[in-house]
Amino acid sequence: MEKNVIEQVFGINVFNDEVMQTKLPKDVYKSWKKTLESGEDLDSDIANVVAHAMKEWALEHGATHYTHWFHPMTGITAEKHDSFLSPATESKPVLEFKGKELIKGEPDASSFPSGGLRATFEARGYTAWDCTSPAFLREDSGGVTLCIPTAFCSYTGEALDKKTPLLRSMEAISKQAVRIMKLFGYDDVKKVSCSVGPEQEYFLINHEKYLQRKDLIFTGRTLFGAPAPKGQELDDHYFGIIKERIAVFMKDLNQELWKVGILAKTQHNEVAPAQHEMAPIYSTANIATDHNQLVMEIMKKVAKRHNMECLLHEKPFEGVNGSGKHNNWSIVTDTGINLLDPGKKPHENTKFLLFLSAVIKAVDENAELLRLSASNPGNDHRLGANEAPPAIISIFLGEQLEDIIEQIVKGDVSSSIQSSQLDTGVHVLPVLKKDATDRNRTSPFAFTGNKFEFRMLGSSLSIAGPNFTLNTIVADVLQDFADELEKADDFDSAVNDLIKRTVTEHQKVIFNGDGYSDDWITEAEKRGLPNIKSMVEAIPYLVSDQTVQVFERQNVLTKAELESRAEINYETYSKTINIEAKTMIDMAGKQYIPAIIQYVTSLADSVNSITAACSSVDVSVQTELLTKCSSLLATAQKALTQLEKVTAEAAAKEEGQEQAVYFKDVVFPAMDALRSPIDELEMIVDQDYWPVPSYSDLLFEV
Ligand code: ADP
Ligand code: MG
Repeated sequence: MEKNVIEQVFGINVFNDEVMQTKLPKDVYKSWKKTLESGEDLDSDIANVVAHAMKEWALEHGATHYTHWFHPMTGITAEKHDSFLSPATESKPVLEFKGKELIKGEPDASSFPSGGLRATFEARGYTAWDCTSPAFLREDSGGVTLCIPTAFCSYTGEALDKKTPLLRSMEAISKQAVRIMKLFGYDDVKKVSCSVGPEQEYFLINHEKYLQRKDLIFTGRTLFGAPAPKGQELDDHYFGIIKERIAVFMKDLNQELWKVGILAKTQHNEVAPAQHEMAPIYSTANIATDHNQLVMEIMKKVAKRHNMECLLHEKPFEGVNGSGKHNNWSIVTDTGINLLDPGKKPHENTKFLLFLSAVIKAVDENAELLRLSASNPGNDHRLGANEAPPAIISIFLGEQLEDIIEQIVKGDVSSSIQSSQLDTGVHVLPVLKKDATDRNRTSPFAFTGNKFEFRMLGSSLSIAGPNFTLNTIVADVLQDFADELEKADDFDSAVNDLIKRTVTEHQKVIFNGDGYSDDWITEAEKRGLPNIKSMVEAIPYLVSDQTVQVFERQNVLTKAELESRAEINYETYSKTINIEAKTMIDMAGKQYIPAIIQYVTSLADSVNSITAACSSVDVSVQTELLTKCSSLLATAQKALTQLEKVTAEAAAKEEGQEQAVYFKDVVFPAMDALRSPIDELEMIVDQDYWPVPSYSDLLFEV
């Protein structure tokens, strides 16, 4: 029987364990595995043999080049290609790839954001092989390239990327969780890792129409656009039948993802028209991060093949839902125990309750930082607006766990609410067992069975930031827990005390109600939970005493590295809004206003010619339209002048916080003021005059 397509293509472009087993001499494979498991430094002889095998495998698959593939702080990935060609004296080319080329690269670092960590003249930067994430081949019309996942550091060892802190945070949480496991008698646990499954939302629109919109090209979102007559109000898109063109795209996407070993699993239509979602099966945090970057890259590439454009921006269209990313996260031992699995009787599962209370404490104490980790300029359009979770961090635990927490706080925990059977009232349907807890869609940080789902992330974000933040803050709490418990004479009573004390102190962050309601905002304020309205207001928490202390203690980021990241955040915000403002100025001045003038002129001509032909004819419709459009046109022109003025003023501000705040408080509102009359005009002006595709064209005519 012919193999199923998944079996045929899965992992064919990955230098995975299976390939290594066949390509490497047995002893080399063994020591390689040992290095990987122990996390020790890699021996250079082994590296040479692995590099050789990798090269042979890549050449067999048609690769001509290799690249160190890394995650600079731009949030996207970077690469510089080198061919396998080596200097040769004879006429025949020699193809080489040495261990040192595999483990270390030296891209010029001066053009990547460093937030002041490195002066431009100190250009050296290093990429170091992350041997825990498998190398893969990228195939496209440019040929085949061997991509080696790496971390990126400066000459002095500071992290210049998102991967380094992620790897450091994985070590940190592992170290502390192993200590805790030891206290519970699990001496066999040597390592703990984080599992991550990111759900990715995206929009697909027609490529030709995309090319007609400078705002989409330059900023990834529409900066103008009146709403289409239909939006998402009928709830007919979510989980709706997938259109054939989209299904063909998804099929192609899945195959491309499977080839590079990504476990693409779930696909469906999302809430907004033209919006969709893909979720892979979870994997270890650093691999999940690499994979999610690849998912975004491949989605864009495959969309183009199908004459579509994939939009990953958090808010491509006003008035319909934007896109996010749900980051499912759990901690698992190397012996296979999911530390966030409550089991059948969570109230008796002390180990689970201890890890749970660590997460609760970490999230409560570092809420502002978590909020920042999920932010980018695009996500400011979602967080706190009524579609994404609110900007307030709270934890949803569900009925069963909330009940247990209440029992613990009261002092005596003796039962767990058990799941019951689902009564559908129809006898022919099978009897289903219900989950012990319903779901809650409005919580930013929800416990979902055996993992937490962090739902605040923007769709275009690298998931590295949110995950290293989570790992680090939880590691820090676990360290305190381990310190306290290791000293205790009576472990059982000490651990129960600790759980009780922790959940009592941090119960305020637990909220099981409707996160979208106004009541919650008032209630959260009463509880003293932070509600940070924008990314710019959240950035200072990256360098707060609390953050610096936690990140330095866990060896994840130093104060200087955190400060540099804060600078990069401010810069990114300012640059993003600046590009948006300049794009609006360009579109309004060169496209919208000239088009509206033409339309207004045609109305005036019509009034003149009709009146000249017969002075008694009623031209009130044309006159009324003429008056209305002219007045809106004047408003638009005034708003344009104002936006030009404040954008120029912003450029003169001191870079960093001051400039970012100015962009948020002054430039951003000026952009809204320009959009509003133009959108109003779009509803009136003859569509033949309108210079760009409308929301109807973009959202309903893929
Ligand atoms: P939903 O949309 O209902 O939240 P999905 O099936 O779309 O659910 O996504 C759930 C995600 O959570 C998947 O990526 C899945 O692999 C991941 N996941 C499941 N179990 C774990 C776990 N223990 N740790 C991390 N992620 C997990
Ligand atoms: Mg989800």
